Amino acid sequence: MKQIMNLAKRTTLISPSPTLGITAKVNQLRAQGIEVIGFGAGEPDFDTSAHIKEEAINSLQAGFTKYTATSGIPELKAAIVAKFKRDNGLDFQPAEIIVSCGAKHSLYNAIMVLCEKGNEVILASPYWVSYLEMIKLSGARPVIIKTSEKNNFKITPEQLLSKVKDQTKLLILNSPSNPTGMMYTAQELEAFAKIAVDKNMLVISDEIYEKLVYADKKQVSIANFGLAIKERTIIINGVSKTYAMTGWRIGYAAARQDIVQAMANLQDHSTSNPVSFVQKAAVTAISGPQDEVEKMRLEFKKRRDYMVARVKAIKKMSCLAPEGAFYVFANIAKLLRKNINGLEIKDSQALAEFWLNEAKVAVVPGSGFGNDNYVRFSYATSFEKIKTGLDRIEAVINEYY
Ligand code: PMP
Ligand code: GLU
Repeated sequence: MKQIMNLAKRTTLISPSPTLGITAKVNQLRAQGIEVIGFGAGEPDFDTSAHIKEEAINSLQAGFTKYTATSGIPELKAAIVAKFKRDNGLDFQPAEIIVSCGAKHSLYNAIMVLCEKGNEVILASPYWVSYLEMIKLSGARPVIIKTSEKNNFKITPEQLLSKVKDQTKLLILNSPSNPTGMMYTAQELEAFAKIAVDKNMLVISDEIYEKLVYADKKQVSIANFGLAIKERTIIINGVSKTYAMTGWRIGYAAARQDIVQAMANLQDHSTSNPVSFVQKAAVTAISGPQDEVEKMRLEFKKRRDYMVARVKAIKKMSCLAPEGAFYVFANIAKLLRKNINGLEIKDSQALAEFWLNEAKVAVVPGSGFGNDNYVRFSYATSFEKIKTGLDRIEAVINEYY
């Protein structure tokens, strides 16, 4: 019999996204009428602001429905250039900006045009799930620097230096971080910048949670530490988190023109432009009134404070107070290696499954982020749901531990 052809080897290197997977599972359970509290999804529960929606509707009705330039409409690039000047004190030219179908798409394009077999890419664990898979897809080798709660889940310049080799091409930074919420200080970033310049490395700086900061500090970009590092940095950002626009799919990158051009060439032959009228709405989001962003931030801060206090008070659980983003990375090590009615809670995946079945609460196992002693709670859900979900987890732990 003729053998059925197999999938390309490349596809066997990657696994499904655990963050998107948990959301799909919650939706499935809800469709069956099971009332689940979802702490999985990394997306704001707020609605997109009315003025942003209005712009999309108006553009759609005015017939702005055709292909645009692959790398984005000039108005949106101009709005992004102005945003970098206004918020980050960084000067970019429109030719140094590319708009993609979400920040994830910008990241993918960047990693694909920069990395290949023979290269190494340094990233800290816990890491956001998609970085690792994208690095593997590019053929490069991920080099993971493990961080710990003791160091606030941050790498040190010494640790970074110890991992740099001739093959090191790229460092990926994500501050504020998903999943830990930790942020690098200006001094730390300056030290990383010096190493990147000295060792001839590039840096991807994922700044998607830039506006969701609760600690008394401002997010700083590594690109702020001089021209030499700016030329080596690819900044990734987007409208998903800041403007509650996850489903609209607009992200962007700012980098040297040759890098941006290579990303645009790749995009030319894969997706072409991001949705035309959504780009118009993104102009309104980025250039229009920003007061809704501050309202969301204050609400997230309230939820963070509550969630941190509750998690710390639950038996055998602990966490640090995240400085930004909207996740609590909770230490569950003391809940593992336990047998409950014949079921062995051996790892974060088993614990998450146990909670889903027993408490009808969904969290993302830490294993997907590179640390099995943790689970990630998103507080991008209503205060009432946070309370109910944590009540349920607390009750289950009190019953079985
Ligand atoms: N980077 C990080 C750290 C994220 O958490 C996410 C999750 N959405 C993204 C990038 C991708 O964002 P987008 O929805 O714009 O693709
Ligand atoms: N980034 C979000 C998260 O970590 C959304 C899901 C995804 O894109 O992976 O949950």
